[in-house]
Amino acid sequence: MEWDPKFDYPGLAAAMEGKMVQAGGVGLAAPQVGILQRFFVIALAACMEHSSGATLDGRDLYPIAESTPGAIFCMNPKIVSLSNKTQTGSEGCLSIPRRHEVVTRPAQVELTFLGVDGAGHVLRANGLLARCCCHEFDHLNGRLFIDYL
Ligand SMILES: [Zn+2]
Repeated sequence: MEWDPKFDYPGLAAAMEGKMVQAGGVGLAAPQVGILQRFFVIALAACMEHSSGATLDGRDLYPIAESTPGAIFCMNPKIVSLSNKTQTGSEGCLSIPRRHEVVTRPAQVELTFLGVDGAGHVLRANGLLARCCCHEFDHLNGRLFIDYL
């Protein structure tokens, strides 16, 4: 999928963030709201509490998350590495209300993506942020968390 300058990515990102916050989620993928494109938003600050050590473009994510209102926008994400170490925890999904299941995910994940401005970024995530990245990435490929059960 190519970056299309005619597309209003900031507007889409804001609309997605609004839906996510309203629904009390920490992540939302475009296909969940009927947009067949490869991007998702993640509520950075909400994930950071359980993701110390995460970096964005090599910089500590904590101060970035605190100064970033709302959500981070990840378009065309590619998972470039997954840890062998795993984490196991409860997970839910805005597309499957009121259902929570225990899912095992990689403890750490590194992904590249395009930001809302079209610039390339590298996110190294762990903890809840890594779980959220994997969950949202799966949505882009039609996979849900209950498919792991
Ligand atoms: Zn979901």
